[in-house]
Amino acid sequence: MKNANFAGLIDGVRFSFDPGCGLNYNWLMRRVSRIGAHDLKRLLARVNDKVAEVCAQREGVNLMEVCGTHTMAIGRFGFRSALDPRLRLLSGPGCPVCVTTQTEIDRALRLVFLKEVTVLTFGDMMRVPGARGSLAEAKATGADVRVVYSPRDGLEMAIAEPQMEFVFLGVGFETTAPTVAATIIEAKARRVENFSVLPMFKLIPPALAVIAASPRTQVDGFILPGHVSTIIGSRPYRFLARRYRLPGCITGFEAADILAGIYILLEQIFLGKPDVAIQYRRSVREEGNPVAQRLLKTVFKKVDAAWRGIGRIKRSGLVLRRGYERFDAGRRFDLPEEQPVARKSACRCGEVMLGAILPPDCPLFARRCTPAQPVGPCMVSSEGACAAYYKYER
Ligand code: SF4
Repeated sequence: MKNANFAGLIDGVRFSFDPGCGLNYNWLMRRVSRIGAHDLKRLLARVNDKVAEVCAQREGVNLMEVCGTHTMAIGRFGFRSALDPRLRLLSGPGCPVCVTTQTEIDRALRLVFLKEVTVLTFGDMMRVPGARGSLAEAKATGADVRVVYSPRDGLEMAIAEPQMEFVFLGVGFETTAPTVAATIIEAKARRVENFSVLPMFKLIPPALAVIAASPRTQVDGFILPGHVSTIIGSRPYRFLARRYRLPGCITGFEAADILAGIYILLEQIFLGKPDVAIQYRRSVREEGNPVAQRLLKTVFKKVDAAWRGIGRIKRSGLVLRRGYERFDAGRRFDLPEEQPVARKSACRCGEVMLGAILPPDCPLFARRCTPAQPVGPCMVSSEGACAAYYKYER
């Protein structure tokens, strides 16, 4: 019965265009959670058929996933080897640790050696190299660096130890920033004076604009991030189709989700009708999460920001707004802006994150650069493209 459903599901595709809201793929979104292994194989075959259809009109097709969780899931499910090789799945700048710059790490490192300052961070940040080492190395020499699971844990620590200063490293995308905003609002309401945040947040849509416009990358469509889009919705991506004629599909993280997302993108490319589709409807709405968006707007404002390996991107970062500046660790501790230290490195993370090369194209991949001894952030992070290739695609 399940197979019959699935056959109907695939064969009964209703690719009707809804004016203003893209293709109607509700049929696929409703069913993905019920798909079994046999059906998954059939979906895979359908995707490969669609690749062949698209490639009858062109040489190949490049889709970029813009989320570290997708990068790992694609590797884990073995899609690169199971899918038609004319479909290239590229990894974009969707790993927050990977895009954090060396100067941002250096700024955080200045903090760790200040007396009575405890630096709080997510675990992935510990081994990311700056010009003067990493947070893990600083901790090994006695600095007080603690791994936390949420900024609120940090706030509670600050309340429990009022004689110490606690600084949370604000790394992440639109997904993480609202939780940090809520924590700052709470810190203000509870008059906590010894908690602050070093903001290093990045925003996804401006980075996509850079990739879409870059002559270095040949992206034909974007597998858009499920988590970020739960917050911002689908509207901030509309420019991809309007300005660059590139389709996007907000996609979930199960095997069937990803295949469905790819199928939707291929169909849009085939029809020559790019749009922003939402495959991950169980979590994402067109308008996103208004409560989280309000939190962001209340606490932060957009500023230009530097991305590791990519450069400065207009209005792609967040800093604290007026009324919340006292929670900005940069101001509180008078941290200078660090200057990039020119270092000769063969690391090609920047090109990997732009989709210009694949990790194995880097000469250091799996030789000098491994998860045990990472050279660049894409190998450090558990969501980095190089780490994903190392784990699943060698
Ligand atoms: Fe950088 Fe290592 Fe990836 Fe090469 S393999 S791009 S050195 S992280």
